Amino acid sequence: MQCFSHQDKQAICICNVCSKGLCKECVYSIENKGRPICSNTCKKSLQQTLDLNTYAAKLYGITKKAGPKKMGIRLGMLDILIGIVFAVMGMYFLMQLNLTEVALFSILCGFIFIMRGLSFIKKI
Ligand SMILES: [Zn+2]
Ligand SMILES: [Zn+2]
Repeated sequence: MQCFSHQDKQAICICNVCSKGLCKECVYSIENKGRPICSNTCKKSLQQTLDLNTYAAKLYGITKKAGPKKMGIRLGMLDILIGIVFAVMGMYFLMQLNLTEVALFSILCGFIFIMRGLSFIKKI
C-alpha cells in the first residue's frame, strides 16, 4: 500500500478514521495506544466516536459497575413481595373474617407496593 499523499512512499499505517494510507511523515498523531490519525480533523472525529461510545455505555449501563442496577431490582422485588403478602392478607380478611374495611385497606396497600416495585424495576 502507498501513502495517500506521497505515491512514491510506502504506507506504514492506515488512518483509524478515514482509512487513508499514511507514510511516516503523514501520521499526524497516534491516539489511544496505536490508533494512527492523519489529521486534526480525524483526531476530532475519533474523539467524538470514543466519547459517543462512552456515553452510550453509560446510557445503557454497559459498564462494569452493575451495583445500582442490581439494588434497584432487589428493592423492586422486595416491594412486590410485600405487596403480595398484603394482598393475600387482605383476601384472607375478606373471605375468612368478613373484615371488609381492613381487607380493602390491606389489598390497597398491597397494590401500592406492587406498583412501586414495578416502577423500580422499569426505571432500570
Ligand atoms: Zn484520516
Ligand atoms: Zn505521506
